[in-house]
Amino acid sequence: MEFPPRPSDLPIIAARHTEAIRRGLGRWSRSGSPPPALGDRRWSAELILSTWLQAETGTPAAPPRPTGASGGGFDRLAFRALPASAQLPEDRVIDLAIPLNRRAWDPPIEIPVPWYGAGMSFGSVSERVMLARAMAARHTGTFTCTGEGGYPDSLAPYREHVITQIATGMFGVREETVQRARIVEFKYAQGAKPGLGGHLLGDKATLAVAKMREAVPWVSLFSPFPFHSVYSVEDHRKHVDWVKAINPDTLVAVKVSTPTDVDMVAVGSYHAGAHILQIDGSYGGTGAAPEVAKKDIAMPVEYAIPKVHRYLTAEGVRDELTVLASGGIRTADDVAKAVALGADGVALGTAELVAIGCTRCANCERGRGCTYGITTTDPELSLFIDPEWAAARIGNLYAALAGRLRDILRRLGLESVRALRGRTDLLEYRPGQEGAAA
Ligand code: SF4
Repeated sequence: MEFPPRPSDLPIIAARHTEAIRRGLGRWSRSGSPPPALGDRRWSAELILSTWLQAETGTPAAPPRPTGASGGGFDRLAFRALPASAQLPEDRVIDLAIPLNRRAWDPPIEIPVPWYGAGMSFGSVSERVMLARAMAARHTGTFTCTGEGGYPDSLAPYREHVITQIATGMFGVREETVQRARIVEFKYAQGAKPGLGGHLLGDKATLAVAKMREAVPWVSLFSPFPFHSVYSVEDHRKHVDWVKAINPDTLVAVKVSTPTDVDMVAVGSYHAGAHILQIDGSYGGTGAAPEVAKKDIAMPVEYAIPKVHRYLTAEGVRDELTVLASGGIRTADDVAKAVALGADGVALGTAELVAIGCTRCANCERGRGCTYGITTTDPELSLFIDPEWAAARIGNLYAALAGRLRDILRRLGLESVRALRGRTDLLEYRPGQEGAAA
C-alpha cells in the first residue's frame, strides 16, 4: 500500500485497525489476561478491552464488568442491590432523555441520552476524528463539541449536533461559527489542567491547524488561564450577552474545573444566564496534560458534583440549570453514579477515543502525535482514521452505554434517568473493593 494512502485504501486501513483491536480482544479471551502494557490505573487493560468490545458490537458489557483500579472515587462506589420486588420488569420502557435548556425562555433542546461529546479541539485531535464524533452525535441525536481550535467547515452539515467552544485563545472564533451553533460553550477551565490553560505544541500546529486558529504554523499555541476580562458574575454575564447578541437562539454552556468553591462558581454561572454547567474533574484529558496537573490540582469530580447539586438546590435554582459532569467518565456505571451524585448527565471524551482504538499510551503530544491517527494533526497519520468506521464505533459504544444504563435504572426501580438525580441513598462506598454492580 502506498503512503500516504489513496482514498480507496481507507476501508482496508479501517479493516486492519479493526483486526488489530480484535487481536487484542482474542488474546484476552484466550488467555484470560490482557496485554501487560495496555492501559493505566483509571483505564485498566480490562476496561479498555471491554470498551473495544462494546464499540465493536453495540452490546453492553457482560458481567463481571471491569472498572478502573484507581483505588477510589467511582471505582469504590456501587449501587445498593434492591430486592427483586422493587425492580422494574425487563420490558418496561426506561427514558434516558434530559433537557439541555431548563429555563423558561430560549429554545428547548432535549437529548435522548444523558451525555454529549466533550470538547476536543482541532489540534488535539484530527479533523477526521472530529468528523466521526459529529456523525456519531447526529446518529444518536446528541451533540459533540469542537473544543477551542475552531469549527471546521467539514462539520457544518452536522451543525444541529455541534457545540462550538470559546476559550481564552479565541482560536478560530468567528461570527459565522457562533451563528452556526445551537450551543456555544465558554471554557473557563478544564479539569485535566486547571489553572494552566491550554497548550498545543508547535509540532501539532500544522498549516491546516494554524490556518483554522489564525496563528503562525509550527509555533506552540497557548490559551492562557484565565479570561483576563472575567473576574465577576457581571463579567461572565457580558460574555453571555455578547454571544446572544450574535446568535439570540443559541444556548450557553460553561465549562469549569473543580476548585473548592465550585458551588459558588455554579450559582454565579446560573445568574450570568448560562443554560448548561459542565464541571470537569481531574481525571479527563488526553495524554497531553501534565501528570502533576492531572493528579494534584482540583477536586475529583465525585466530590464536586454533590457540592454543586446541593448548593444550587439550597439556592432554589437547581431545576433551571443543566449540570453535566466530565473528567473520567468511562462506563454506563460511571454515568449512573454521576447522576446519582447530583448531575443531570455527563460529557464523554476519552471513552470515545478508546472506542476508536486508543490504548492510553499517553504519547498524544510526542512528535507527530498518535500513531493510531487519533490525537494527531499530521496529514498522513490522520488518514489512519476512517470517519465512517470511527463514527460507527462511537455510535456502537453509545448504544451499549444506553443499554447498560437502562438496566441499572430498571434494577433500581426507576423509569427515567431524571429520577436518579441526587439519589445518593442508592449508592454505597465499598472500601477495599472496586465495585460497579447495580
Ligand atoms: S497517543 Fe493515541 S493511543 Fe496513545 S493515549 Fe494518545 S490517543 Fe491514545
